[in-house]
Amino acid sequence: MRRFPTPIHNAAAALGRLPGVGPKTALRYAFALLHFSKLELASIGRAIVDLGNITLCQTCFTFAEKDLCEICADPNRDATKLCIVAEARDISTIEATSVYKGRYFVLGGTLNPIDGRTPETLNVKALLDLVKNSPSITECILAFSPDVHGETTIMYLQRQLSTFGKSMTRLARGLPMGADIEYADEVTLASAMTGRSKA
Ligand SMILES: [Zn+2]
Repeated sequence: MRRFPTPIHNAAAALGRLPGVGPKTALRYAFALLHFSKLELASIGRAIVDLGNITLCQTCFTFAEKDLCEICADPNRDATKLCIVAEARDISTIEATSVYKGRYFVLGGTLNPIDGRTPETLNVKALLDLVKNSPSITECILAFSPDVHGETTIMYLQRQLSTFGKSMTRLARGLPMGADIEYADEVTLASAMTGRSKA
């Protein structure tokens, strides 16, 4: 039995697929959208449809509109530094600090064998190929959250990357243990990046 017209149910069902949005919240969002004009709804719809054009940068695996993301395509970025992060969203967090001008690589997660996140499910091979074939890189920054999976990933990458003779650093301990980079404030993250230490 339907209590509301189908478009409302459809919108609620679609919104309910988002993380952290339960059925009640989804319905509340659908009702809120009913107050938008047709033009506004079309613009929201288009913004979502356009997400379908997003692809992954072929070099660093962050989200991009072309084969190369803006950072990889920017000749002014410092090609001697490669900051390795777990998720693409970590890049925007670090970029917001404005203290780092090098390049990035998105690993696609952290190691967590219990959840099935083994090196094979991450972009490890592409990372090793990139570091191996980029003589310009002198420093690899292992920018992972200081929690158990981040630490496991740092140790694993240290071993894997050690053969390439690059300097390896990690974020300074300014980040509280167990903290997620995503939620670190800009000042803390900026000092963690500036005061990074040998990994
Ligand atoms: Zn890129």
